[in-house]
Amino acid sequence: GMSEGRLYVQYKDIPSMHRRFNQFSHKGDFGRVLLIGGKTGKVGSMVLAAKATLRTGSGLVFVSVPSSEKQILQISVPEAMVADNSELRDLSKYDAIGIGPGWGLEIDPDYFAEILRSVKRPVVIDADGLNLLAKYPRLFDFVPSGSILTPHLKEFERIVSGVACHRDRLEKAMEFARKHQIYIVLKGAYTSISCPDGSQYFNSSGNKFMATAGSGDVLTGVLSSFLGQGYHPKQAALCGVFHHGMAGDLAGAKKNRGLIASDIIESIPETFVQMK
Ligand code: AMP
Ligand code: MG
Repeated sequence: GMSEGRLYVQYKDIPSMHRRFNQFSHKGDFGRVLLIGGKTGKVGSMVLAAKATLRTGSGLVFVSVPSSEKQILQISVPEAMVADNSELRDLSKYDAIGIGPGWGLEIDPDYFAEILRSVKRPVVIDADGLNLLAKYPRLFDFVPSGSILTPHLKEFERIVSGVACHRDRLEKAMEFARKHQIYIVLKGAYTSISCPDGSQYFNSSGNKFMATAGSGDVLTGVLSSFLGQGYHPKQAALCGVFHHGMAGDLAGAKKNRGLIASDIIESIPETFVQMK
């Protein structure tokens, strides 16, 4: 197990990390999560992330997309509230924020900087959020400590500007996590989680059928949900990555190579049922 320093995240490690909620809980107790992203033509990423956030147990999910896309979000995910820019003025009311899926690279870096500066708590950054960090490295100064970054290999290489072998990558991820005091979730088979305290974990759940469009957007939702439920970022990262992979395994058992990202979302509840 993880206490013995074998940093391999397994099924048996997860339930003890779960926060307990009692029968008097109300939806506010489960966290208010804001998701930011989804430009025209990529708004599906926000649909997937929002559904995944809800399926992981968040009480209230807000999504910020361009105004032309608001109706699509509202219809696709009726449980979510669709935020406009006025609601982005006060970010302190959100327990967690996930930024980046489908956001596009046309975003004003000062706007992104302003978001990062004003949240004052860890955020989840994925996809175009990461690509913007690669494009404007000065933005790293504003990433809140404890934040969770979820690059796949290509995104990671953009951020650290080129790494060669697998071992090199793991070292770079560790170095980066320490330097910026953030969590680097390097996605792929056996996703690694590099922590600011210098520890490095490898996830045991997940499968090759998850290599399909939108899988990563689902992970953004899962991680944002755990953060919003008050999990410490390290617990959120470990639980999030494991549950996401396990949901992929449950879905993969039924769908095989026909698995699509929505199937992962639909299997998230079963991961909690099995760990109850
Ligand atoms: P993205 O590339 O952003 O869509 O993210 C892909 C997601 O699917 C990540 O969570 C990966 O860990 C997961 N994934 C992709 N390929 C594999 C694989 N071969 N084995 C396990 N998980 C995978
Ligand atoms: Mg992705």
